[in-house]
Amino acid sequence: MLPEPVMARAQKEFLNYNGLGMSVIEMSHRSREYQALADEAVRDLRDIMKLPDNYQVLFMHGGGRGMFANVPMNLASKDGTADYVHTGAWSGYALKEAKKYTGVNAIELECLNDRGQHSLNMGALKLDPNAAYVHYCMNETIHGIEIFEPLDTGSVPLVADASSTILSRPVDVSKFGIIYAGAQKNIGPSGFCVVIIREDLIRDPAPFTPDVGSFKITCDKGSMFNTPNTFAWYLSGLVFKWIKDEIGGLEAMEKRNAAKAALLYDFIDSSDGFYVNNVDPAYRSRMNVVFNLRDESLNDDFLKEAKEAGLVGLKGHRVLGGMRASLYNAMPQEGVKALTEFMDGFKSRH
Ligand SMILES: *Cc1c(COP(=O)(O)O)cnc(C)c1O
Repeated sequence: MLPEPVMARAQKEFLNYNGLGMSVIEMSHRSREYQALADEAVRDLRDIMKLPDNYQVLFMHGGGRGMFANVPMNLASKDGTADYVHTGAWSGYALKEAKKYTGVNAIELECLNDRGQHSLNMGALKLDPNAAYVHYCMNETIHGIEIFEPLDTGSVPLVADASSTILSRPVDVSKFGIIYAGAQKNIGPSGFCVVIIREDLIRDPAPFTPDVGSFKITCDKGSMFNTPNTFAWYLSGLVFKWIKDEIGGLEAMEKRNAAKAALLYDFIDSSDGFYVNNVDPAYRSRMNVVFNLRDESLNDDFLKEAKEAGLVGLKGHRVLGGMRASLYNAMPQEGVKALTEFMDGFKSRH
């Protein structure tokens, strides 16, 4: 879901951007007018994330998965190693891709806690001080598991896939070497990727790296080495403005998101086991709430009746089954309330 005021504005100015008589997707990315819009988006992102001066913002192609390759190509080497923290599906995909380019040390954290809930064993976080970097996924979108504190990696750069949690809460960027995110969950159109990178990590990549995947070239060319996704950049800029001006920044965003998630988790936990979320409360995702019906034979009815009530996109990811409610930034509290009311009614009927 994207913020409605943003989409309404994009619609309004689609045919005629800023009185120029053309659409933003018809403008040259080299034009003065486009450059102004592009710079403003970067400034607003720097502002809302409170980026320290020694961090750069890059906009790249290829979404989240593009970065699964770009990170090792730019930061690691074939004969070196990188540490990959494995907590679910997405960190697993990242790890698999990285193996093409570097030695990978997989660190398995998934476990069950003493209540039988899916949890993470932070005690198993044994890091290699000689690794090129440590990679982890801040929010496992499919498994509904979120890590709220940055991992302590000492002097080894910490690289985070923040695709499904970026801009949902403040983070202390100075703890990270790189934070990257495919845009389509909390920012804007798919295919676009936001990369926040500490300057000392911008260096010559492995020689086989495509130029469009090089952090150095992307940075030197102001994310316009080749034609960027101009529309995605523009729309993302509108979302940054929405967070800044209408929400009031990331602290306010976090309050909204925490309240939304609490409403749904509390409802599930008090449903007498009709609905179950089996994630350790310390790691329950605020963005993606996974849950199962105790009686899984009701799944199809649940989805059908939900759709009739105007509630869509609740089917869990194919790798996990069950249900998933994604509560991204733009989802209002009323949306979550409508869901819990529907779930309550469904429970009574069945
Ligand atoms: C959605 C997602 C991705 C993949 O993004 P694409 O843009 O489809 O490549 C990667 N990581 C996480 C955590 C995601 O949620």
